[in-house]
Amino acid sequence: MSVSKPSKVGSGVRPQNNPHLGDAPFLSVRSLSKSFGKFLALNGVDLDVMPGEFICFLGPSGCGKTTLLRAIAGLDPQSAGQVIIAGKDVSNAPPAARDFGIVFQSYALFPNLTVAQNIGYGLVNQRLSREKIVSRVAVLLELVGLPEQTSKFPVQLSGGQQQRVALARALATSPKLLLLDEPLSALDARVRLRLRDEIRGLQRRLGVTTIMVTHDQEEALSMADRIVVMNNGVVEQVGTPEEIYNRPKTAFVADFVGRLTMMPGVVTGTNSVRIGDVNLDCSIVGAIAIGQTVDVALRPEAVQLLATKKTAHNHVVAFVHELEFLGSYSRATLRIGGEAGPSFLADFSANIMRDQKIRKGQLLSVHLPHEALRVFPASQGSA
Ligand code: ATP
Repeated sequence: MSVSKPSKVGSGVRPQNNPHLGDAPFLSVRSLSKSFGKFLALNGVDLDVMPGEFICFLGPSGCGKTTLLRAIAGLDPQSAGQVIIAGKDVSNAPPAARDFGIVFQSYALFPNLTVAQNIGYGLVNQRLSREKIVSRVAVLLELVGLPEQTSKFPVQLSGGQQQRVALARALATSPKLLLLDEPLSALDARVRLRLRDEIRGLQRRLGVTTIMVTHDQEEALSMADRIVVMNNGVVEQVGTPEEIYNRPKTAFVADFVGRLTMMPGVVTGTNSVRIGDVNLDCSIVGAIAIGQTVDVALRPEAVQLLATKKTAHNHVVAFVHELEFLGSYSRATLRIGGEAGPSFLADFSANIMRDQKIRKGQLLSVHLPHEALRVFPASQGSA
């Protein structure tokens, strides 16, 4: 397995606009590794999660997201390293001592129990009185928008309703930590969108520290305070959705989150690169020597169409090789300098397409903003 250096997460990093956040991390993971036989599934993960934060573990299938979540829960303990929850080292503590609620992709409701019994299950174990359980279950059903469904069985509910029940059950004992393992991926697209908003709203209202595993970048970008991007058992980058999208630290993060073009280039100066025959100002990430072969990442929406064909700073002439109509916008495949040049994608709104009468085979003048041209060593390669 090829692994890059694990990155540390500064405990001082805090998202804004969340009134529930305190100063000390609620959860810390230290140098955590997990092996399955000879296979290293997690390699030295460090992470701090602040109180009330909504964190998403994002990454491709098999990168270790669920393994990390299960190690935090104590369901599948780590091979090395520590898990600290609310200042207490729980690395060797059983799941029951970690005060979390968990929701799985597959709902995992008890089929022979009613909705109310499923939700109240953990409360019965806590030996609460019947009246208290009934009133708590009613509050939870209201909270997840299912007040009328108390005596139904799971089989009588839709997928979205079952997942709401699973969420209510996870929240029943008022845990300090909510763990969500791909809770939306079994649902159809419309239900998924609605439940996404509902879970986010509920999490904000309750202020419960939450970690959600997902491989869906849109879900992570829209829901998380911070995203932990994982690859091959290590953390590639931790940051707000805006940081991850606009300032990816590695070629992997740039390529995995959002759509982009990777163009081959050669570094020509401190912050300049040659792509094809054109020299452009750019944003070099990390230490890269002049003359080095690199990958230059560019997001399609960063390309700006210019009204005139004059070339100036980071302006290039581009040949329209292909056009794909996508409703409110079109995605163009452009080639730098002419038909044989390096190609990149550009998104143009329906208005621009109409006003500028953009057609295949045309030459356009476009501006490639230097901060949008992010340069990575070619060896990290996803070109
Ligand atoms: P997905 O999105 O597909 O669920 P993931 O990022 O959650 O992927 P994990 O389930 O954490 O990935 O698995 C990480 C790696 O560890 C995978 O290569 C997986 O095959 C391996 N793995 C997980 N559990 C076990 C196990 N019990 N025994 C052996 N290998 C395992």
